[in-house]
Amino acid sequence: MYNRRILRPAFAICVLVSQWSCTYVSNGEKASTESSSLEEEDVPKESKSINVILMIGDGMGLTQITAGWIAKRDALNLERCPVIGLSKTNSSSNLITDSAAGATAFSTGKKTYNGAIGVNPDTVAQPTILEIAEKNGIATGLVATSSITHATPASFIAHQPSRLLDEAIAADFLKTDIDVFIGGGKKFFELRTDHANLLTQLKEKGYAIANGVEEIGLVKTGKLAGFIADEQPLRFSEGRGAILTTASLKALELLDQNDKGFFLMIEGSQIDWGGHANDSQYIIDEMIDFDNAVGQVLDFAAKDGNTLVIITADHETGGYGINAADDDGTIVGGFTTDYHTATMVPVFAYGPGAEAFAGMYHNTEIFHKMLAAFSIRLPVNSAPKQVEIQ
Ligand code: MG
Ligand code: ZN
Repeated sequence: MYNRRILRPAFAICVLVSQWSCTYVSNGEKASTESSSLEEEDVPKESKSINVILMIGDGMGLTQITAGWIAKRDALNLERCPVIGLSKTNSSSNLITDSAAGATAFSTGKKTYNGAIGVNPDTVAQPTILEIAEKNGIATGLVATSSITHATPASFIAHQPSRLLDEAIAADFLKTDIDVFIGGGKKFFELRTDHANLLTQLKEKGYAIANGVEEIGLVKTGKLAGFIADEQPLRFSEGRGAILTTASLKALELLDQNDKGFFLMIEGSQIDWGGHANDSQYIIDEMIDFDNAVGQVLDFAAKDGNTLVIITADHETGGYGINAADDDGTIVGGFTTDYHTATMVPVFAYGPGAEAFAGMYHNTEIFHKMLAAFSIRLPVNSAPKQVEIQ
């Protein structure tokens, strides 16, 4: 049961959101100024190739990171990043974003409504950084510990009015030339209501279809569609193993074979699910698994010297607090909600251009900063519009 002390801020947020929705509408942001086509983005790269790796810990607020550090009883790999910023996560429709709007902000530079996958508030498809990268000859990849059609990875490759449309999102993978994707959700490609077999179509496009880590490990070159579950992958605590790290390393191995650089998004999907479950141990297991992948990615970047790594979250989940911890690292956690919160989330950056990620800014800026790292310019009329809370 919620007590009055919780209800009051909840009421305040409702008022804030409703006022803000009106403000958004009255600002009159129209599709006409936002519906830039993919062709318009097709500006040649100006400098030597660079790799950009965006790592998203879904629901990874500062407390989730702190819990991981306490439980690990050692420094996190995240701490190797010399630059830290803060990201304001609100969506166009809500003070509290969901993962679809949060990832679409990163992938398109546009604030949109909760549930939107790669579309603006008018449901008009927006070019994603993955598509823009492809147009510029940059190799692309997605890795997740959820279904690959889940909101976060989907927002980089698909354009759908709702995150619930897994089969339509899967079909959108065929409309791109993504080089590598590894995650769950095989059934949305194979056992579909329209009876299409997208795995066959992927094979015809030249993809190796690999099921499970062993098969994924055998693919040494070319395009890869790797599946680690029919629907959602197991929790780490249920025996998922170090799939996130091995999948990330496989993606790096394949993408690094492209001379023009690559864009790779890696998601630790289930930190969020631990927050929804109000389960400290679930959060910690997923947080440390994600941080282990961070360590391997930073090792790659350190060795490569021309790789920018950005590590952030779409939002915080759970209103998580640490009230105490035992000497063995066991956390006594508290939660204010089983949903997301509006609190800002940290942005960590490492590598060439990392300093651009210092400061406090909207989540949409991460898109523009990544494009700048690639030396890709957008048309003037698609300059970002900030959606501030009034
Ligand atoms: Mg997610
Ligand atoms: Zn969530």
